[in-house]
Amino acid sequence: MSTLEIKDLHVSVNTEDGPKEILKGVTLTIKDGETHAIMGPNGSGKSTLAYSIAGHPRYEVTGGTVTLDGEDVLEMSVDERARAGLFLAMQYPVEVPGVSVSNFLRTAKTAISGEAPKLRTWVKDVNGALDLMNLDSTFSSRSVNEGFSGGEKKRHEIAQLDLLDPKVAILDETDSGLDIDALKVVSEGVNRFRERDNKGVLLITHYTRILRYIKPDYVHVFVDGKVADEGGPELADELEANGYEKYLGSKV
Ligand code: ADP
Ligand code: MG
Ligand code: MG
Repeated sequence: MSTLEIKDLHVSVNTEDGPKEILKGVTLTIKDGETHAIMGPNGSGKSTLAYSIAGHPRYEVTGGTVTLDGEDVLEMSVDERARAGLFLAMQYPVEVPGVSVSNFLRTAKTAISGEAPKLRTWVKDVNGALDLMNLDSTFSSRSVNEGFSGGEKKRHEIAQLDLLDPKVAILDETDSGLDIDALKVVSEGVNRFRERDNKGVLLITHYTRILRYIKPDYVHVFVDGKVADEGGPELADELEANGYEKYLGSKV
């Protein structure tokens, strides 16, 4: 059983002109087996939330708490967060030239579980996870994200999710740049993950398209660093029809 609890989170980013407050009091609880979609216009702070939970150094938490099963996540190093069971798939995954997919995955798995996975079963597991994402086994010898297409980056991230098996997955714009076939493959991967062991998922998305394949239990609308509205899956349908305009008011 796992619960990720975000309470009144305030986050500033360091810019050339000094710190700028981006998150202005975000409260959100993700329990096992729950999928929460965070939707919102560009620049509303969705990625900032993901980076803050993951521990990116550029984002400074100035108030509030984040706990995973009662443990203070904000006190943990980035590695400790991963070991505690948090997984972040980034909107813009970084290239790691010279590090193969297979070495990268093995290093990550070893860091998280505290021991190296047994080689024979591991190779099988990796090939199985890649195959489920329609990536062939030669993919594992390529450098991480180097020259990957948008679709390959996202499929590789879901293969990681499958192999690393975290408690809670935070997926930032996992649908961006995917054609319909890749979107289906990626969505099936996320659905397998959440159904396998009743895992929690925080799905960040600008568009409602992915929510046809990954059904959220709750939808939160982000505007200007705060949750402006919350509801069930029907809220996504309403956003699909009407966009974010009603939340933006005089700012449009
Ligand atoms: P979203 O993911 O919802 O599009 P972001 O979290 O990426 O929003 O950005 C929220 C706001 O914070 C934007 O105004 C963006 O310009 C600003 N911001 C985010 N990261 C940085 C950064 N590293 N430096 C300066 N501004 C940033
Ligand atoms: Mg954005
Ligand atoms: Mg973003």
